[in-house]
Amino acid sequence: MRHLHWFQTDLRITDNLALASHSAADSLLCVYLMPKPRPWCNSNGLGGQRDRFLRESLQALRESLQDVGQDLMVLEGSPELVLPDLVARFAITELSMSFTPGYYESQTLLHLQAALTIPVEVHPGNSLFTQSELPFELPEMPKVFSPFRRQVETLAVPGPGPAIERLPPPPAAQFDAIPRANSTPHTALPLPGGREAGKRRVRQFIFDQAAIIDYKSTRNGLDGLDGSSTFSPWLANGNLSVREVAHDIFRFERERLSNESTYWLYFELLWREFFYWRAVSDSRALFRSGGVAGKAGQSTFIASAFTRWCAGNTDYPLVNALMRQLTATGWMSNRGRQIAASCLINELGIDWRFGAAFFEKHLIDYDVGSNYGNWQYIAGVGSDPRGGRHFNIDKQSAQHDPDGLFTKKWQGVRPAQPVDVTDGADWPLAPD
Ligand SMILES: Cc1cc2nc3c(=O)[nH]c(=O)nc-3n(C[C@H](O)[C@H](O)[C@H](O)COP(=O)(O)OP(=O)(O)OC[C@H]3O[C@@H](n4cnc5c(N)ncnc54)[C@H](O)[C@@H]3O)c2cc1C
Repeated sequence: MRHLHWFQTDLRITDNLALASHSAADSLLCVYLMPKPRPWCNSNGLGGQRDRFLRESLQALRESLQDVGQDLMVLEGSPELVLPDLVARFAITELSMSFTPGYYESQTLLHLQAALTIPVEVHPGNSLFTQSELPFELPEMPKVFSPFRRQVETLAVPGPGPAIERLPPPPAAQFDAIPRANSTPHTALPLPGGREAGKRRVRQFIFDQAAIIDYKSTRNGLDGLDGSSTFSPWLANGNLSVREVAHDIFRFERERLSNESTYWLYFELLWREFFYWRAVSDSRALFRSGGVAGKAGQSTFIASAFTRWCAGNTDYPLVNALMRQLTATGWMSNRGRQIAASCLINELGIDWRFGAAFFEKHLIDYDVGSNYGNWQYIAGVGSDPRGGRHFNIDKQSAQHDPDGLFTKKWQGVRPAQPVDVTDGADWPLAPD
């Protein structure tokens, strides 16, 4: 029995059912394929910080695999071409993966199942509940968050699986070094990839600093580390399993203190869960301009305004600071994402999908369901019962950056030339 495990967003060897299923195999080939942004994203490749976080995570995964007698092969190319080639080359008899939501991901799976004559086993992914543990069939899943939450929040979250202690050996093959990234973590927000860094952050936020006790009042902070948990990069890449994080919250509540804030951190994991399953259920509609709601979407693209939004060069200093923070660190707070997204959609009048694609390129916590689902929510074509959000940027600046420190830190200046020039009408006239 020669098996292959395809790693995607499950970059860990603990609580990884798919990886644990190979204990009886004679050999196991562990493979990761570098991701490519959506085909309609207008810029190529991953952003520097996303690429950096991913490569650090892969290096850490490789080392943990080596500790249990394994190795990791990192390749470029589309899974539809590379995986059948590996299956043939190594005479693989079974392929496994952890479930990964998303339309393109499900198309890839269908393609592999059709192209390969060996079993393709799909094990539960990085969710609190498996599909069969949900109290509804997916087509009946609530389209908005509150009824979803009411149905799932009383369910017990199953405990995470154990760490794997030994894996079958890899086949004779060449395992090249993983090329290092060109970027390094930003000193203002050093979020390194890899499981150990994620565990350290959970320990620090929940147990050592007990910042979880005040989470509800700090979570809207614009800068990471002093505000919200910043668990998202490790959750999105699967360095941490969401069940482990949930059980760490429950342990803190049992052993130390349980209050509205400790509950609220779990509540946010339920938001993640909501978008995870909505991505499965909504399939292609997750990428439509009119979204799941099937509304007439705004499909405008104004190249100059979009370029200025991406570069942090709009008429809104706070948005500029947020966009500069994103490209410099690969992270942006939840409130920041809402403001930046609302600006693109409502002030600049651009199709939300261009903003979502730019976030996909840069976010170190990029996650298909959470990214596209939240963008649709702000654009009013997704799961928001109130029909979209329009944030007043001046009010948001006054509330979340009253002294302008965040805007100053990330050089959110107002450009000399506004995005829309309004004195054009005078241009043909000679001066008075
Ligand atoms: C336009 C937009 C795009 C987004 N894109 C992504 C994305 O690609 N990946 C991603 O993980 N999150 C995304 N989010 C959700 C949210 O902004 C981030 O999860 C959060 O800011 C991460 O920081 P944190 O870990 O400190 O969050 P915390 O406030 O500490 O929350 C803890 C965890 O709960 C989950 N969570 C919190 N808020 C949300 C939410 N609104 N939706 C889904 N899950 C949530 C995350 O897993 C997060 O790590 C997006 C939000 C918006 C408005």
